[in-house]
Amino acid sequence: MSAPQTLVRLPIRVRRTIDGDGEMTAVLLVHCEARRRSVLLDECNECGSCEAVHVDPLEEDSWVTCSRVAAGGGATVEESVVPEGDRTPVVSIMGRRVLCVEPETSTALLRDLLLERGLTGAPVVNPDGAVVGFVSRADLLRSQWPGGAAAVSQIMTPLAVTVSESASIAEASALMALEGVCRLPVVNNAMSGKVVGVISALDVLGWIARRCGYLRHKTSRN
Ligand code: SF4
Repeated sequence: MSAPQTLVRLPIRVRRTIDGDGEMTAVLLVHCEARRRSVLLDECNECGSCEAVHVDPLEEDSWVTCSRVAAGGGATVEESVVPEGDRTPVVSIMGRRVLCVEPETSTALLRDLLLERGLTGAPVVNPDGAVVGFVSRADLLRSQWPGGAAAVSQIMTPLAVTVSESASIAEASALMALEGVCRLPVVNNAMSGKVVGVISALDVLGWIARRCGYLRHKTSRN
């Protein structure tokens, strides 16, 4: 009799992008440790190792179950890895949702979205999904002055520093400290630098607190 199949449950992440007309598109992503990169959910659906897919309408608990990763392809969910910060990939602690805007998105819409979702900033991407900058609440505040900016392109910080999803938490932390920023867009180099998430200093602090036993679970901040 063959041994029962072991499955690993992997979180589904959502990347939303707002274009210059205010239209929103959403892409569902899964970090595949076997392929060492994030993949579109469609790739999981077409993969022979995908056993089940669950998309939560509230986006709190969407997942796929994968037999290949469980069979030794690696592990991506935080619960299944216990290494140190210099080996844990940033993808294992970043949030499940990321909101991106395009340079032509209006600052008024950006303000509403940041307030509605409790975000402190958003990656700015071109129509291909590659990062071209980052826009923060501080940038927005400056744009509210008389004669202020109408479009994100006028207030964003261009050429945002990014970190690869395969980078470690320690590498991302070093980059944030060196650049003096509190958050970094996480990109997938195999997808031409498309954004797959954002990691913040708060994510790193939460990870340290969980490892030290002061927190049991991730906060539901994002
Ligand atoms: S089902 Fe598993 S092995 Fe296949 S693409 Fe998805 S995560 Fe990767």
